This record gives sequence, structure tokens and C-alpha cells, in this order.
Amino acid sequence: MKRVGSPRFSMRTNLTLLMIAEIAVISGISWLVTWLLRYFEVSVIIPDMVWYLVIGVVLAGAATSFIGIWIFEPITRLGEAMQQVAGGNFDVRLDTNHAFPEICQIYTNFNLMARELGATEILQTDFVSNVSHEFKTPINAIEGYATLLQEEDEAGQKLCTEKILLNTRRLSRLVGNILLLSKVDNQAIKARETTFRLDEQIRQSIVLMEPAWEKKDIEFDVRLQRIEYQGCESMLIHVWDNLLANAIKFSPQGGFIGIELSHREDKVVLTVEDRGPGIPEEALAHIFDRFYQSETSHQEEGSGLGLALVKQIVTASGGSVWAENLPQGCRFTVTLP
Ligand code: ADP
Repeated sequence: MKRVGSPRFSMRTNLTLLMIAEIAVISGISWLVTWLLRYFEVSVIIPDMVWYLVIGVVLAGAATSFIGIWIFEPITRLGEAMQQVAGGNFDVRLDTNHAFPEICQIYTNFNLMARELGATEILQTDFVSNVSHEFKTPINAIEGYATLLQEEDEAGQKLCTEKILLNTRRLSRLVGNILLLSKVDNQAIKARETTFRLDEQIRQSIVLMEPAWEKKDIEFDVRLQRIEYQGCESMLIHVWDNLLANAIKFSPQGGFIGIELSHREDKVVLTVEDRGPGIPEEALAHIFDRFYQSETSHQEEGSGLGLALVKQIVTASGGSVWAENLPQGCRFTVTLP
């Protein structure tokens, strides 16, 4: 934890200097008066009241200096820490052990702010480098296959065209997902709320993916309770599409997918499970991160943005989403308020 020191002429220093000057001036004047009285051989008895006054001023000076240390030092420290944050150093943290609860609160909030700012910066930097990398791969592939296309025979040309199409779709999906990610936030979701049949929407998503699941000869067990739901229809469709697309993608030939939608207490719960390879234990904590793809995933068929989008939409809708492994395959659960 990095502590920030006091500046050269802080309020506290100024106050302390002022008190020292005050005591010095009073002592000087007292000495001068005493000297003058002696010089003119005037004999006076200094009344007790004067001594009380002198002692009072000295004590007041010491007390003010002490208050200066307690009150102004943390404020000065906060000011300097803020200056460091403004200069781009988000690692600065303040020690929250302080006698005044108000100062503890301010320091705790400051530390929180610095941490959040740091996380946002890391996220942005990572995001830009990930996006650049994800764009580069399909663009390089398209360039390579387009060059090959000119030299190949008919069979080779067909293969090159297929690869170019595959990478073009990948690029287009990537751009679509990035655009969606930038659009999803709580306000956007709230503003577009309508009432619709959630079970119908999920059924529609399954039907639209028929070419993909038919190719793999996948067996379905679909149990959808009739549910009228108030939410953002245009965003929630991406949740079902992504979960279903993953379940199909990771299912083996002749696999099985179970989908269940039900009302539990005051929540709507959807589960999607498949009998694929499941999620590696070390990947479970990361699959909802942007651009995360586990080692064993079909990396060329995705961009690692699907589940990040699912999480963002579900969270903005006030719900939650998680994944768990089954003895065979895995299950994704979405709850919506
Ligand atoms: P992608 O587009 O690469 O599939 P996602 O964000 O949708 O990206 O998924 C992130 C990762 O989560 C995948 O790369 C994969 O490792 C894992 N994953 C998602 N769904 C499943 C599933 N049904 N079975 C196994 N692993 C899955």
C-alpha cells in the first residue's frame, strides 16, 4: 500500500509555524518589557493574571497545532493522492485506519474510486488489444485464401471460397457482438421494456437454429412453462441464441440438449444443458469474461464474446447467470426477476 506524504507548505505546517511565531513574539515582548523595567530600575510585581495569560496562549498554541495535525494532515494527504490519480497513477491507496470515522469513510471511498478507475483502464486497454487481435486473425485468413484462390484448381478454389466466407461471417459476428456489448446497459434495457411471451421467444430461437442442430442430429427435451414477461425482448433473444448456439456447438454428433423454462418463487429460471465435453474446471471462473475461450473450445467458431454478452444483458436486466458441470456435459442457468 502506497502512502502519500505531506506537501512542503501544507496547512498544518503553516498553522504550526504561525503558533511558533506567536509564542516567539509573545516571549520576545515579555523579555523586552522585563528588560525595560530593569533598565529604568522600575520594580513591579507581575500580577498572576499575566502569567495565566502567557500560559494560556502557549497551551492554546500547542492545542491548535495538535488539531492541525489531526484535521489537516489527512485532508492534505487526500489532496495529494487525488493529484496522483489525476496524473494517471491508479495504484495509490490511503490507509483507512484513522480515529475519525468521517476520514475513514472518505479514504475508503477514495480507495474504491481509485480501484474502479484502475480496473476500467485495464479493461479498456485489454479490450482494444483483444479487439485488434480478433480482427487480425480473420482478416489475415481472408487475405491468405484470396491469394491462394488465384492459383488453385476448381476443387481448391471451392475450399478457398468456403474459408473466405467462414472468416467473413466470423468478422461480421464479431462486429455485431462488439456493437451489442457497447449498447447494453441498465438504462437502455429499462427504456426498451415490453411485455412478451418468454416461452415463445425461446421456442423461436430453437426453431431458427434448426439447420445447425439437425446437421448434428441432436435430440431435444424442451419444457417451457407459459410465461408473460416484462423485459427487453430485443436484447434477451441474444441470451437464448448464445446459450443454445454454444450447446449445439459443443454437443457431439447425436447429442442431447435439455431446455427448461419455469417460474420459481418470484423468479423466472431457464436452464440449458448439453452432453458435450463440459467446461474445464480452471475455465469455469472465466467463461463470462470478454474474449475468453478455453483451450479445448472450438476457437475458430467463436470469438469469446457470446457469454460476456449474455452476462451483460442478464445483469442489466436484474438477473444472474452461471454455469456448472454435470457428470456428462454442463448446465447454464439464467434467472430473471
Ligand atoms: P465462443 O464464441 O468462443 O463460444 P463464448 O463466450 O460463447 O465464446 O464462450 C466462452 C467459452 O466458454 C468457450 O470458448 C468455451 O470454452 C466455454 N463454453 C461455453 N459454452 C459451453 C458449453 N456448452 N460446453 C462447454 N464449454 C462451453
